[in-house]
Amino acid sequence: MTCRVKAVFALCLGCGAGVCDSCAQFELIGSGCGCVWPAYYCPKCAWDPYVNPNAAFRDPPKGRAGITSR
Ligand SMILES: [Zn+2]
Ligand SMILES: [Zn+2]
Repeated sequence: MTCRVKAVFALCLGCGAGVCDSCAQFELIGSGCGCVWPAYYCPKCAWDPYVNPNAAFRDPPKGRAGITSR
């Protein structure tokens, strides 16, 4: 998974790949002690439940209409 845009905005927490600001999938990771911290995943890892514990709660990446930013 290589971003076609060369500008690296963040590193994927799962595979370490550089992602640009349009590829990066923002996620809040819960640690289990009530703390959450922000993380970025590449599009591949964002929906991989083995990488992203929140993947199951994400909408499937079919179409782009469902993506919400809050
Ligand atoms: Zn990744
Ligand atoms: Zn990109």
